[in-house]
Amino acid sequence: MSLANAPTPLSTVLIANRGEIACRVIRTARRLGLKSVAVYSDADAMAYHVREADEALRLGPAPARESYLNVKAVIEAAKRSGASAIHPGYGFLSENAEFVAACEQAGIVFIGPPASAIAAMGDKSAAKARMDAAGVPLVPGYHGDDQDEATLKTEADQIGYPVLLKASAGGGGKGMRIVERGEDFQAALEGCRRESQAAFNDQRMLIEKYLTQPRHVEVQVFCDSHGDGVYLFERDCSVQRRHQKVLEEAPAPGMTQELRRQMGDAAVRAAKEIGYVGAGTVEFLLNADNSFYFMEMNTRLQVEHPVTEMITGEDLVEWQLRVAAGLPLPKRQEELTITGHAFEARLYAEDPEQDFLPATGHLERFELDMAGANLDPSRVRLDSGVEAGDEITMYYDPMLAKLITHGDDRDQALATLNRALSALDVSGVTTNRAFLQRLASHADFRKAELTTRFIELHEAELFSKATLDNEAYASAALFALDLLQRESHKDSPWARRDGWRLNAPARIRIALTDPAHAGDDADSSAILTVLAERQGKSAWRLQVNDHILEGQLQRLEGDGVAILLDGHRRRWLARRDRTPHGDVLVLGDAEQETRLFWRRLDAVDHGHHEVDATLTAPMHGTVVTLLIEPGERVEKGTPLMVMEAMKMEHTLNAPADGVVEAFHFAAGDTVGQGDELLTFNADE
Ligand code: ADP
Repeated sequence: MSLANAPTPLSTVLIANRGEIACRVIRTARRLGLKSVAVYSDADAMAYHVREADEALRLGPAPARESYLNVKAVIEAAKRSGASAIHPGYGFLSENAEFVAACEQAGIVFIGPPASAIAAMGDKSAAKARMDAAGVPLVPGYHGDDQDEATLKTEADQIGYPVLLKASAGGGGKGMRIVERGEDFQAALEGCRRESQAAFNDQRMLIEKYLTQPRHVEVQVFCDSHGDGVYLFERDCSVQRRHQKVLEEAPAPGMTQELRRQMGDAAVRAAKEIGYVGAGTVEFLLNADNSFYFMEMNTRLQVEHPVTEMITGEDLVEWQLRVAAGLPLPKRQEELTITGHAFEARLYAEDPEQDFLPATGHLERFELDMAGANLDPSRVRLDSGVEAGDEITMYYDPMLAKLITHGDDRDQALATLNRALSALDVSGVTTNRAFLQRLASHADFRKAELTTRFIELHEAELFSKATLDNEAYASAALFALDLLQRESHKDSPWARRDGWRLNAPARIRIALTDPAHAGDDADSSAILTVLAERQGKSAWRLQVNDHILEGQLQRLEGDGVAILLDGHRRRWLARRDRTPHGDVLVLGDAEQETRLFWRRLDAVDHGHHEVDATLTAPMHGTVVTLLIEPGERVEKGTPLMVMEAMKMEHTLNAPADGVVEAFHFAAGDTVGQGDELLTFNADE
């Protein structure tokens, strides 16, 4: 049936989102013969989703508050484009009951649940009370109205430690703390209340038994406006960092038919209890003994929905559109089946070695060569919100794309995921690609030994701590020298700063840092200095760790270089990534990649360590607050100012004992990567 003739006719859909989810909705809308309208902020005027849509309308300036979160602007855009429905995607306005009400008022269909259902799940305590009444199992705990400290302490003692304190109004892991012992309860409660007050203007807490090795298993549910509901099975999303999912799969390993039915029924019961309509996800914690507990319901389509699509063969966005058009669910419970196994890996612009710090920059390359890597297009899906050439800005979530694979069984789907991850060619911006590969190829992950603490438990193997040999450092130094030489041809800051001349004899020091140790103290042994002396046009004598190597670099086609070191010639793919923490040299071959931060030190040899007299912005962002007064004397390591980029805060610390002469920006100002933030006068 065409959606134009449905009970609630749909012909034009506005997608109030950006990135991969906007592109994904546009694809399905097009297939169903609907016109798609994109919206964009100033930062996204040229973005992929804008290029993909039939029509696009500007919302406002780059900050989300003024664009994608601006209810009025989105409704205006919908009216202007004549859209009959709005798909909210995830994040932004997708779980905003006021926005849903505004849609209703404007006579526009909101593709999602009614405002009342969103509101019912918005407060953790209220939601738990409702679920309890509906017979959905809850983590043992307390979610009552009495917020007296003595009451809360008594409840915590009764539940038994460890307990988890959670802000009732919470989300995104804020206002949440584990309490190991009764003695720690009071301090933790105070901390949580403070955090919750600051973030949500609400101090109410709930307490849960803290489960030590649970899995995160969630059930996809779907309800139509005729009172029917089904579940499309479960997903395991245990692999998380900072309570954010990284790798997801469906079905959940080790699931029995009986448990699947129990969890599915509980999820549908939860949805029906609140009069749910559309796609929703009921999240559970699953214990090793197969006991499961309701955690929360996400009243929208989830990022990880494609794994469900892969195993069921259904298009969930199509389901959403049909339900929004007033049609019944396309399938009954007994018509739904699971075929094979699917994985999703989330590709983020971030640096796992820097505590997952988001990265920005110019995406030079972004390609998955399916044919070249022998990948079957019916088994591999790349849901992307970007293309090569795009700018990755600081304004929004750093997720770039999702790689989804399918196989007849878990092993096959995982092998395909690994192959696809290694075939994914991405450069220009630091990503978690290699980290995902280490995760996906980890022996315990292969054995499906999953818990929400997986990344924490396997830290040693997941974060590359490999120490490099002298040849690797020498090769990287040669590449750095080559870059410097190229830059000196242009009127580059290098040339200006130190009078570098192409043919002059030169003695240069290059500082190299293994990113695995980059967090270490700035003047610790983590930094290796290579002393280079020019021998000929491109020949160098290098001193690395007291070893002398003779080296030469030759550029080949594309990123190819040949490096000759002491009579050993090897080919590499060499590139330079600009990250928030500085430039990274990347030298790779088919099997591995060496990544090193680099910095040119003065050509002249100094007997002591020099301290930069300026502090520059490590990435694009905004200044949140200045922590000291100009002129104040500070010790090395004292926090000086806080910046925010991509929803995360970064503190800049004093590089040495000294005095801040001046700040060049005030709170609220936008700064670009490399901008000089302040003038610092280090003590002699
Ligand atoms: P938020 O809404 O802030 O994201 P959630 O309640 O959804 O908070 O919990 C986020 C994550 O914290 C879960 O995915 C799980 O990994 C962990 N978690 C939550 N509750 C518990 C619990 N009672 N025991 C152990 N881990 C928990």
